[in-house]
Amino acid sequence: MNKGLAKILAETEKVSVHGGHSGQFCQHAQDDLENIVKAYVDQGFAWVGITEHIPPLSDEMRYPDEAEANLSADFLQQRFSQYFELGRELQKKYADKIELLLAFEIETYSGAGDYVNSLINQFQPDYLVGSLHHVNGIGIDYSRDFYQQALTKAGNIKQLYCDYFDSQYQMMKEFKPAVVAHFDLIRAFDPGYLSTLAEPDIIEKVERNLDYIADNKLIMDFNLRGFDKGLEQYPSLSILKKAITKGIAIVPGDDSHGVKSVGRNYDQGLTVLANLGVSLQWQKPALISY
Ligand SMILES: [Zn+2]
Ligand SMILES: [Zn+2]
Repeated sequence: MNKGLAKILAETEKVSVHGGHSGQFCQHAQDDLENIVKAYVDQGFAWVGITEHIPPLSDEMRYPDEAEANLSADFLQQRFSQYFELGRELQKKYADKIELLLAFEIETYSGAGDYVNSLINQFQPDYLVGSLHHVNGIGIDYSRDFYQQALTKAGNIKQLYCDYFDSQYQMMKEFKPAVVAHFDLIRAFDPGYLSTLAEPDIIEKVERNLDYIADNKLIMDFNLRGFDKGLEQYPSLSILKKAITKGIAIVPGDDSHGVKSVGRNYDQGLTVLANLGVSLQWQKPALISY
């Protein structure tokens, strides 16, 4: 890394709009939430959004690992209350060390809309992270096998992407989430994603969704998890460049799922942004007023 870049990285505030999944409240994460918060403090983060997944609406919509562990939707919903209680406590306890925002990551599937609204009313999160982990009711980032099922249901890869981006658009219109997470997660198990994303029909939908984000001043999660498998961040470069042209606020999200993934790939991600000339003065998520 050259000296100029190292200086820029050292002087940039460390933040995450999307992180803090913990083993305490999420089956596919590790460690207690408080230890994750401490890791953010140790790494000198200025502010972090703690953004646990919402619990499933019903047993049918559980993640496979939750079903395997025989955790009912009822139980997971109860546990989510505890997440919120503890989150509010930690916000106060660490207020002099770090600014914690308490949010949650919503799901997008049939029936989720009313359910998410009821969770918002019940818990009054500071903001929402708008996500899709399902297309046509089937998980897309859980495993290659599930991805294949979603692909089969959609008919072909182009249709799968179109369904994903249409569903994302509906989700954004319904909830205006302050942060739109891992914008092109649909490419998770598509080795040919570069050419898929270059399809004119898909570009049109991507443009439409980006325009919505820009017009409503939502934040694009610059999701650092994408680097994990030697790949690039979400959103991938072609989309990122479009977002920059449209003036969209791009802010890092480490999508941490345990102490070890706090601040993951941070310098790598910032290097990409710095080289593209993106502002490293981060926009903070707009808080929901109640
Ligand atoms: Zn997760
Ligand atoms: Zn997610």
